[in-house]
Amino acid sequence: MVRQEGRAVLTEVESKAFLQGAGIPVAETRLATSRKEALALARELGFPAVVKVVSPQIIHKSDIGGVKVGLTNGAEVGRAYDQVLAAARTASPAATIHGVSIQRMASPGVEVIIGMTKDIQFGPVLMFGLGGVMVEVLKDVAFRIVPLTRRDARQMVREIKGFPILEGYRGQRGVDIPRLEQALLDLSAFLEKHDEVKELDLNPIFAYQDGILAVDARVILEEPAPVAGRG
Ligand code: ADP
Ligand code: MG
Repeated sequence: MVRQEGRAVLTEVESKAFLQGAGIPVAETRLATSRKEALALARELGFPAVVKVVSPQIIHKSDIGGVKVGLTNGAEVGRAYDQVLAAARTASPAATIHGVSIQRMASPGVEVIIGMTKDIQFGPVLMFGLGGVMVEVLKDVAFRIVPLTRRDARQMVREIKGFPILEGYRGQRGVDIPRLEQALLDLSAFLEKHDEVKELDLNPIFAYQDGILAVDARVILEEPAPVAGRG
């Protein structure tokens, strides 16, 4: 349906659905197209809830006030619904708004990111780093060309400067490093099967002592070929 619309950017909800077969644990996320539906879905998925604006034109949702986390009851979800939609209309009046996404608030973990971009020479390249300032300010990331070997995945995780944070330091427990390595390998295999993916971002993935969970996803497809006999 996305391609029939001639659209390349998948929303968070569409990106997470697309990644279903990739083997990466993703926070269950549903689209609500009304305030009432937002409340019902929040009750179904459980509190605390997270509400985010869903629009193919709004790529950085929190930059425009389009993400509300830690909502503990229906009243807060209702207010967040109104707020994120109002913020989106103000920031991006021409944007197509699908509604809001509802998901449960994940427990805190170490935020990491996995991304994919296509290099003109090398094709798909996977990136791994720690989330937040570590990536944005310090550019502390590792890259490998798809397909990854086990050794690539192992090295990627270990070569970032922030690795001690993953390993655990000064009494802090470490995170599930083998599961992160597996996620890199699984994503590499998924991307080999999906050449139509132009860019991918799982930002953030929460890494825990035991397991990982992606709470945001963004997929951009290659520009679709023009549909014959139209336009
Ligand atoms: P964007 O990257 O488009 O601004 P995100 O979906 O990444 O929006 O949300 C912004 C931030 O909110 C995330 O980096 C994360 O810290 C937090 N967040 C998002 N979804 C969840 C969730 N399900 N549980 C806990 N925190 C979340
Ligand atoms: Mg994000």
